[in-house]
Amino acid sequence: MTTSLAPFPVEKIRKEFPILTQKMNDQAFVYLDNAATSQKPLAVIERLSKFYRNENANIHRGVYTFSQNSTRECEEAREKIQHFLNAKESAEIIFVRGATEAINLVAATFGRKFLKKDDEILISEIEHHANIVPWQQLAEEKGLKLRVIPVKDNGELDLEAYEKMLGPRTYLVAITQVSNSLGTINPVREMIKAAHHAGAVVLVDGAQAVPHMKVDVQDLDCDFYVFSGHKVYGPTGVGVLYGKRKHLEAMPPYQTGGDMIESVTFEKTTFAKIPAKFEAGTPAFAEIIGLGTAIDYLKSLGLDEINRYEHELLEYATEKLSKIPGLTIIGTAPDKASLISFELEGIHPHDVGTVLDQYGIAVRAGHHCAQPTMKRFGVPATTRASFAFYNTKAEIDVLVKGIEKVIQVFK
Ligand code: PLP
Repeated sequence: MTTSLAPFPVEKIRKEFPILTQKMNDQAFVYLDNAATSQKPLAVIERLSKFYRNENANIHRGVYTFSQNSTRECEEAREKIQHFLNAKESAEIIFVRGATEAINLVAATFGRKFLKKDDEILISEIEHHANIVPWQQLAEEKGLKLRVIPVKDNGELDLEAYEKMLGPRTYLVAITQVSNSLGTINPVREMIKAAHHAGAVVLVDGAQAVPHMKVDVQDLDCDFYVFSGHKVYGPTGVGVLYGKRKHLEAMPPYQTGGDMIESVTFEKTTFAKIPAKFEAGTPAFAEIIGLGTAIDYLKSLGLDEINRYEHELLEYATEKLSKIPGLTIIGTAPDKASLISFELEGIHPHDVGTVLDQYGIAVRAGHHCAQPTMKRFGVPATTRASFAFYNTKAEIDVLVKGIEKVIQVFK
């Protein structure tokens, strides 16, 4: 770690997150469930409040000023996300409800239209259910083959096996950039290159990546990229599908109805151009605007600075947790985002989470919507502590003390 860099201003940042001053069970609230959802800065809370108090009007349909302002703000949010992901153009940014809906959209439109019997879809052994089930359903419907890239014992994908699996039948590779259950950062850029070499199209699930690192979809050269607003310090109910123009134009619409049409008669409907073609009905316009504010906020902190600080937290937590007798970290890949999944010998993760709650510590206990990953590592569930840039080393110390208390309770 270089020492010439200015320290990350975490104390100042914490003041911008009102929930962090709350108590939980009469203890200081230690929020370590950031992979499930992130807390919201004042900038986002106030933007939503101001919008609902003073500006609320539906987009697209109004000729009056407030409606036009909402429309403009949503389009500005789209441009902010375009720049955030470095997409070529804002029309490649589609607003959806979240990562789950984005993947379902691609499966139901691109998947249904282009994949044919015996074509293969490659996913990995460390996917969230959101990047498994839509492909499995599609495979059942169309007689496709769903193949699984294996993971090594440390949580890294077996890239040699992956390269061997790629072939003329591979139509689509759908992989996560960061595993939500192990923290592994997959080398998606190289994986995309290999997939393209084999003629396959690639969807990247970025739900756990965008909160932690700079993403450049042109540099990655992915065909689709998805993420959720609520995990990136924005509101719930809004997410993003990025798709290359050529794919989005070739795909049929997902949902149909208002706002996605060019013209409607009882005989025939013609569809709007992208992105409107994929945005049927009233979108979560207030939340879209709030997501734009969240992106501004993240940029103001700097993704590189966030990444550096969170890595420090990860290293600190890994060192401290590794010293606890009976604790095993699941997922020890050399390249990890700031989350730690662990097992405590003889104690069920739900019991770990419940006792930690008594000490004000919020962690997640369960299968993390990644049951196949749990099965691979031979555990029914894990306890997961996931860190954001507003967490501190002092909070990690509280977690360590909390775990020691858990061990005492169940001794
Ligand atoms: N993909 C990954 C890697 C996730 O961690 C999650 C949520 O935890 C999702 C997809 C689904 O996100 P959402 O529930 O916001 O649609």
